[in-house]
Amino acid sequence: MSQQTKYETVIGLEVHCQLSTESKLFCSCPTNFGADVNKNTCPVCLGYPGALPVFNEKVIEYAVLFALGVGAEIKPKSYFARKQYFYPDLPKGYQITQFDKPYCEGGGILLSSGKKINLIRAHIEEDAGKSIHAEEYSYIDLNRAGIPLLEIVSEPELRTAAEASEYLKKLRMLVKYLGISDANLEEGSFRCDANISLRKHGDLEYGTRCEVKNLNSYRHIEQAIHYEVLRQSDLLDNGEKVVQQTLLFEESSGKTKPMRGKEDAHDYRYFSDPDLKAIVVSSDLVLQVKARMPKLPDQVYQHFTGNLGLTHQDATVLSSDKNVANFYEQLLTNLDSKLNEKQIANWLIETYLPASQQFSWDLAKPEISIDAFTSLLVMFSEGSISSTAAKKVFLYMIETKKTAKECVTELGLDQVNDKSVIVETVRKVLADNALQVEELKSGKQKVYGYLVGQVMKSSKGKFNPKLVNQLLQELLDEYK
Ligand SMILES: [Zn+2]
Repeated sequence: MSQQTKYETVIGLEVHCQLSTESKLFCSCPTNFGADVNKNTCPVCLGYPGALPVFNEKVIEYAVLFALGVGAEIKPKSYFARKQYFYPDLPKGYQITQFDKPYCEGGGILLSSGKKINLIRAHIEEDAGKSIHAEEYSYIDLNRAGIPLLEIVSEPELRTAAEASEYLKKLRMLVKYLGISDANLEEGSFRCDANISLRKHGDLEYGTRCEVKNLNSYRHIEQAIHYEVLRQSDLLDNGEKVVQQTLLFEESSGKTKPMRGKEDAHDYRYFSDPDLKAIVVSSDLVLQVKARMPKLPDQVYQHFTGNLGLTHQDATVLSSDKNVANFYEQLLTNLDSKLNEKQIANWLIETYLPASQQFSWDLAKPEISIDAFTSLLVMFSEGSISSTAAKKVFLYMIETKKTAKECVTELGLDQVNDKSVIVETVRKVLADNALQVEELKSGKQKVYGYLVGQVMKSSKGKFNPKLVNQLLQELLDEYK
């Protein structure tokens, strides 16, 4: 019996999701990523004595959008608390967060298996700064200090690394659809702590858990869970105890390493922040936010499979990202039935999206715009270029940033529709192939294809094949 099947894995995730407000949670400093070190700071987020926090109201709107998106219960009144601990990148010596009275509780995320992962709560808090450890010294960048975060805490209902990964993907997709976070994994605006424990199948009590901090890629999360399952089951098999602790995931080895003993809530000496009033969410505000609720991923998927008749696979790809879904819907509008839904989905999935991934385009403002791609597809739909040519043109558009029309001309793919030009070539081919024409007249039908081929060949494939056929028929009739 393998170790993995002897114990049940219990996983709960705490996700820290950066809200994309323009200014920080308690001051007016900007939140843009990549600013010069310590540029986005002021006395409030630097923790100067006497500087007072002022709550950014925009955060509440975003938080309410989230709560509605996961079906959570929104509390009319909630409070900020101070969580005391020492970190070099936490200048106040405490973090402002929500403790026993978060703004929302409950709600959940539905996995594709139909299993619902319930949420315990979500709360608003400020981010800490960032320590940068160089060889000789450590440095601190406080640009991130005070940026608003939503901490989303799941019930320990996840049982496998794959479930954990799917839960995170769905949650990330949701916050992007809601427009409350860019959820950029590389920039750390969507990261998670995983609480992992094991227990014997059938046990009701949870085992001792370990918390792996700050995971920011799906691969690392899965690796960390796999590693912890092995490590903890080894301990249990040998009759040893799992020690409750906070761990770091080491990318190079794929292993977890102890960081510090795990604190309990009472270690933080939480108390209500005397500088901040209660957050009040009126029912009016909830109604206003509800009114501008965007379509959510599951609804978009339903629309694509139900109304548009796309396959499960295509609809999954096209609804997996808000920008992709918008791109697709915009193409449908632009092309106005020149191509059908399935054809447009194919062009997007097989041609456009692979390129967007290869060149890391931001689909909100991609390098080949929706309009540019539309004009390419219009040329294809009108038959002025073949699908092979259209794909060539697309690559050339990426390379040169020129319009589809310019690229078609530069690549020499313009189709010739001028009858007089085509007629001239057809006459010449017939004259040069008098023998074949005789054979055709005597009933050898397959010679016809040969003649078409000769005409196309001398036009280097540029003549409109329909017109070639039509004019060849007409001229052959003259020969009879
Ligand atoms: Zn500030």
